[in-house]
Amino acid sequence: MSPPFDRVALIGIGLIGSSLARVLRREGLARHIAVHSRSEATRTKVRELGLADSLHATPEAAVAGADLVVICTPLSAYGDIAAAIAPHLKAGAILTDVGSVKQSVIRDVGPLVPAGVHLVPGHPVAGTEHSGPEAGFADLFRNRWCILTPPPGTDETAVNRVADMWRRCGMNVEIMEARHHDQVMAMTSHLPHLIAYTIVGTATDLEGHIDADVIKFAAGGFRDFTRIAASDPVMWRDIFLNNREAVLEMLGRLTEDLAALQRAIRWGEGEKLQELFTRTRAIRRSLIEAKQA
Ligand code: NAP
Repeated sequence: MSPPFDRVALIGIGLIGSSLARVLRREGLARHIAVHSRSEATRTKVRELGLADSLHATPEAAVAGADLVVICTPLSAYGDIAAAIAPHLKAGAILTDVGSVKQSVIRDVGPLVPAGVHLVPGHPVAGTEHSGPEAGFADLFRNRWCILTPPPGTDETAVNRVADMWRRCGMNVEIMEARHHDQVMAMTSHLPHLIAYTIVGTATDLEGHIDADVIKFAAGGFRDFTRIAASDPVMWRDIFLNNREAVLEMLGRLTEDLAALQRAIRWGEGEKLQELFTRTRAIRRSLIEAKQA
């Protein structure tokens, strides 16, 4: 059986791009995998790892003749990349991405997409705190969700082809509006990262002797925050700048709830604390039942 895609171009090849390259190859989903990386060091690494059939120093060279193009860089690079590749996209090609925010993709890339090319923004909700092509692995996407946010009127065949690719990479696919995606991710992913960055930042600002013991006794909950707070700084800067509205909305709610908790602790209102902790414990149980834990 011939592969579903003839030539797939990956623009950027870090954790997500290299995981995709690995699983595309393992599952036989592309005849040819063309990769663009801006840096010689990354291209050398990708060559050593054998992740690409062809390597390109410019994005326009990588997309020439591709029937599927996947942008796998931080969000702040999208506008320049879209402008560079637009004149070189093949008629009928599908342009997708893996970015963690979706309205900004439609805003930055949408207007540059030539007629006859199908934009299908996507977000495989799978990752680790590691970066770069060595960090990727083919099973990263297995049993995780991939969310596609095609703008109204997007060609259905193109959407189905992207959905089918992610399913064959092991993912469950859901289609939703970009705005809804960004709100859900603000709560489930962006806010938890912001909290982790804050807690670890607060801890490192403590006076020397406390700071040292925070590291020594990190197992008491702090350690899990340090793992999340080790995530890529550029990627997360871009996520907060591009999902500003939804993150600020969720942060406002969190701040109110924190103030209420602060008051309950100050006034010794044990029943309020216990009531909240009982509710949150039930949420954890329902996550386990939904196999999302
Ligand atoms: P990564 O491991 O840091 O890789 C980023 C890649 O983009 C590298 O190949 C890098 O090239 C390239 N790049 C960076 N800035 C660029 C620029 N200005 N122009 C051209 N290329 C550039 O990042 P990642 O974790 O794979 O994340 C990539 C995308 O996936 C992001 O949009 C992120 O929101 C999304 N995502 C990430 C996760 C996660 O948990 N990590 C999960 C889901 C979605 P060099 O090698 O030359 O630096």
